[in-house]
Amino acid sequence: MDNTIAERPTFVSHLECGLKGDHYPADQLHGLSKAGKPLLVRYDLKALAKSVSKEMIARRPADLWRYREFLPVRRAEHIVSLGEITTPLIRAHKLETGKGALLIKDEGRLPTGSFKARGVCVAVSMAKALGITRIAMPTNGNAGAALAAYASRADIESTIFCPDDTPKINVREMAAQGAKVWRVNGLINDCGKIIAENKEAQHWYDFSTLKEPYRIEGKKTMGLELVEQLGWRLPSVIFYPTGGGTGLIGMWKVFKELKAIGWLDGPLPRMVAVQASGCAPIVRAFDTGAEYAELWPDAHTVAAGIRVPVAIGDFLILRALRESNGFATAVDDEVIVAALAEMAAREGLLMCPEGAATYAAYQQELASGRIGADDTAVLFNCATGLKYPLPATERHMDKGSKFP
Ligand SMILES: *Cc1c(COP(=O)(O)O)cnc(C)c1O
Repeated sequence: MDNTIAERPTFVSHLECGLKGDHYPADQLHGLSKAGKPLLVRYDLKALAKSVSKEMIARRPADLWRYREFLPVRRAEHIVSLGEITTPLIRAHKLETGKGALLIKDEGRLPTGSFKARGVCVAVSMAKALGITRIAMPTNGNAGAALAAYASRADIESTIFCPDDTPKINVREMAAQGAKVWRVNGLINDCGKIIAENKEAQHWYDFSTLKEPYRIEGKKTMGLELVEQLGWRLPSVIFYPTGGGTGLIGMWKVFKELKAIGWLDGPLPRMVAVQASGCAPIVRAFDTGAEYAELWPDAHTVAAGIRVPVAIGDFLILRALRESNGFATAVDDEVIVAALAEMAAREGLLMCPEGAATYAAYQQELASGRIGADDTAVLFNCATGLKYPLPATERHMDKGSKFP
């Protein structure tokens, strides 16, 4: 095995405004573009393709850094890692209804228990490379947990704001991992506002979703891993629980990068954004043909990770859905809860509610005919179900009595 973490080449050529396409230099501190939109990292793909092959990657350790040529971190000493292992792709045979495989990418195995670790480990590594010492972030729980862990490991101070009703376990996890945590009587966008208003005075680097360019790069490794696990082939359809959309945007970006270097053939998968009926701004925008999504008032759902009333990358999500011939769909909370229970009881997979939402959407869209039972479908379970409250279902017995 090639275990060397030596100086590694990286192929970042520049950054580019996701909306306007104007360029920004690599290796400098950036937030949003001049137009106030997310920046996308661009690579010299020709040089990248010459320096690495699928066979070389296959010989490397099974973690996120095996795709280092596709990532922006230039120097090995800047890598902040807690062991970002390759997550399993698990087939749910019993839940299939046709010839198509139903595969669950179980991201709950990552450090801090969610796929936020992928984005945050790359973003914190870049922050360290660029000399950042203070980071602030609004979060519904999992992103903050990942930030707290990676920032502390990198000796960076983190300040985190979360909505009032964020589960205790998440808030305490962040604090235990060294962050300063604040509960705010509002939603994630209200938390984001506090950071925007105080970041200059506090010298905070704003780590809000897509307001720094490197989380997408970390999250895109989900797409790399998925296609490598499938033998460099693509599924027909991907169901992604969509909040800020980092993962969906990232996967779509890397599929196009892989296509450009000739590593993938055939049609790219249909991307499906899954939201909750109580917070579905992307679904509404998709269905009305809009380029941007409007703020969703009074957002509520049991799937807190996708309770994002307004996403700054809305147009990038919508573009990916349309370019891929995918769609956006919303599921009710009751259906999410039932899907979670079914997956756990029948396949032994305890999903998070957001992950369960993708299974609920899969069933709903099989019934609607928007996807077929012969399609190979991938669902993303983005966090471990163990961090969420579970229904009380235990039985009690007296130690001295006869077993009933
Ligand atoms: C953050 C999060 C999401 C949404 O991910 P995005 O890429 O930001 O859309 C979904 N589920 C869980 C559990 C999350 O923590």
